[in-house]
Amino acid sequence: MELMADLLSLADLNAIAVSQLVGVGEKKAKSLAKAEIETLFDLLTFYPRRYLDRTKESRIADMAEGEEASILVTVVRSSSRRVRGGRVMVTVTVTDGSTNLDVSFFNQAWRERQLTAGTEAMIFGKISFFRGKRQMANPVVDLVGDKTGTIIAVYPQSDKSGLQTGDVSSFVAEALRRTVPPKGRGFLDPLPMAVLDRHDFVDRNAAMSGIHRPESIPEAMAARRRLIFDELFRMQLALVLRKRHMEATEVGMEHLIGGPLVRRFHERLPFPLTSAQVRAIEEIATDLARPIPMHRLLQGDVGAGKTLVAVASMLAAVDGGHQAALMAPTEVLAEQHHAGIRRLLEPLEVPDPGSLLGDRPLKVELLSNRTSSADRKRILNELLVGQVDVVIGTHALIQDKVRFSSLGVVVIDEQHRFGVEQRAALRGKSADGVLPDVLVMTATPIPRTAAMTVYGDLDVSVLDELPPGRTPIVTHWVKAPGSLDIVEGAGSAALEAMWRDVRTQISDGRQAYVVTPLIDESEKIEVASAEETFERLMFGELAGLNVGLLHGRLSGPERDETMERFRRGSLDVLVATTVIEVGVDVPNATVMVILDADRFGIAQLHQLRGRVGRGEHASTCWLVGDATTSDGEARLQALVDSTDGFELAEVDLDLRGEGTILGERQKGRNDLRLASLRNDREVVALARREAIHLLDADPGLAGHPALLEELGLFLDEAEADFLLKG
Ligand code: ADP
Ligand code: MG
Repeated sequence: MELMADLLSLADLNAIAVSQLVGVGEKKAKSLAKAEIETLFDLLTFYPRRYLDRTKESRIADMAEGEEASILVTVVRSSSRRVRGGRVMVTVTVTDGSTNLDVSFFNQAWRERQLTAGTEAMIFGKISFFRGKRQMANPVVDLVGDKTGTIIAVYPQSDKSGLQTGDVSSFVAEALRRTVPPKGRGFLDPLPMAVLDRHDFVDRNAAMSGIHRPESIPEAMAARRRLIFDELFRMQLALVLRKRHMEATEVGMEHLIGGPLVRRFHERLPFPLTSAQVRAIEEIATDLARPIPMHRLLQGDVGAGKTLVAVASMLAAVDGGHQAALMAPTEVLAEQHHAGIRRLLEPLEVPDPGSLLGDRPLKVELLSNRTSSADRKRILNELLVGQVDVVIGTHALIQDKVRFSSLGVVVIDEQHRFGVEQRAALRGKSADGVLPDVLVMTATPIPRTAAMTVYGDLDVSVLDELPPGRTPIVTHWVKAPGSLDIVEGAGSAALEAMWRDVRTQISDGRQAYVVTPLIDESEKIEVASAEETFERLMFGELAGLNVGLLHGRLSGPERDETMERFRRGSLDVLVATTVIEVGVDVPNATVMVILDADRFGIAQLHQLRGRVGRGEHASTCWLVGDATTSDGEARLQALVDSTDGFELAEVDLDLRGEGTILGERQKGRNDLRLASLRNDREVVALARREAIHLLDADPGLAGHPALLEELGLFLDEAEADFLLKG
């Protein structure tokens, strides 16, 4: 401990203002503040964006036509002029001592201010010859400061802070000189020795010098690896601590496992469960039997059979004389769950001391905004006295008036549509501080390592297997403009083949969906476009068939009627907006056409496609769209190549990055500066293993005060109090 006090912790660094560094005056401090650099901690975690390796530099005089190269240059002069079309062209003459080079920039007028005479910069681009002179157009430019090393760190730059990369590197050099030995006190390294050794990590002094001022690229990479681990390790420690803290402090119900209702339910199932379903049900049962409230996520692809798992969990509550609630994001879905679950459960009987026979039928009710006020009143009353066993509903379930006699299990379907507060509100409906067990279900798989980060405080069960007998959906991509207007043009033969397929399947007795373009601007335009598509198909490609239209602006009863007609088979085709995205289940539907498919994301296309392939017949999905970007192309191709939701989730993560996945669940200070869920998947898993290992041995981190302190720096105050002082 004596020794430790001498070393610098991140909190110490965070207490030292950058203005204490030599060379940081009022003006520079202001620029730094604009880039959110106020303390030494901020400065030293302002990491280089990339490195320039001077051993890879070229000489202008040696470069041939078409060659690509990095060159360290000094600006000789720059000028700008207007060219045709009113655009601005900036011409900068640079030299590397061997000869001059003319560099031109189009429509980047600010380059004239950036690249003034005498400025040193690293440029990267392709050489061409014009009238015997070398030139380069629109190169990548990095302003460099300190060029003494072989490796030059390039820092992120923004116009608004006015901060020069040269400034940053000299401030960082100064900060390191004063913190790292021999001159400085050195950094406190909170990572247990065993972890350092196990993974061959460099210590923090080496990591800090290595990331900012490496002497070789491998040195920089080793530093990076260590710092990425630190970020992910802190995150995992916080998540695992949060989970364990909840387990230690919350009081839950010990449910009866293997009771008569669950047994009879299993006996009555017309098919065997998949082994994934069996496993998930067992994992849940183990949680339910414990006196600790369950927080479990059930991930499973569309059609994997999550509902049965949910029903088995809810029945465990009813077996013990408690109630269960299932919350779905839309009316359509709630109604569908209600109908399906009712069919499964209402033949079952529950004990009822008040009745002559000692039993009554198990009661499943639906509570939504469309429930009549008389029914509503009755249901609320019966929930309160315990006569309703299972209630299914939408947001209507979290209203104040809804009270339970004893709420034992809560299931939340398609959890990504509900906020954290809504989940908490439903969970809070239990009586007397005993919390119900919570199962959240999602059909939008996220990659395993991403799940560890986003849902690291939940337990996760995965249904990674579809029930047998499903024929995989064959997906085609028709490269044509997705709106129907240009049928004559590109892809028209393929479009004809597509409509022929639709008609053939319908004449074989099957049904089809046509999904109309997603329009971001407004629901009104989206509906108009759906109506237009509907009319056009009725009188064109699908003339003579029974076609229905479904969109978000229809009234509840209108929507019900259309859905019901489609379900009964009296409609051949359902033209619909994305309202059919979640959960609609019509096994006889075997073709889906998605118009303007390039406007949808991977996850959404996968969800939509999941509406077909639900029965015994082979299904096809036609994606119509003209991808205008390489990402768009990769998205549609991914759908053609795979029907596996987890695989698609990986592709999605690759294409979109993690921003969208992290989204709302990011709390406190965002600590991921170097780490990426996409590129550092193995490290995420490693960090989680190490976090669990450490907390198993030392639950309160009493033996690791430095780590505990550091963790506190990254949590917001409330959470730090909650997790670290408990
Ligand atoms: P999802 O996971 O998308 O919510 P569902 O629970 O709606 O999937 O199930 C999709 C379909 O598969 C339903 O019609 C359901 O009855 C059926 N199903 C579920 N489990 C099995 C099984 N083990 N064997 C056969 N069919 C099953
Ligand atoms: Mg479902």
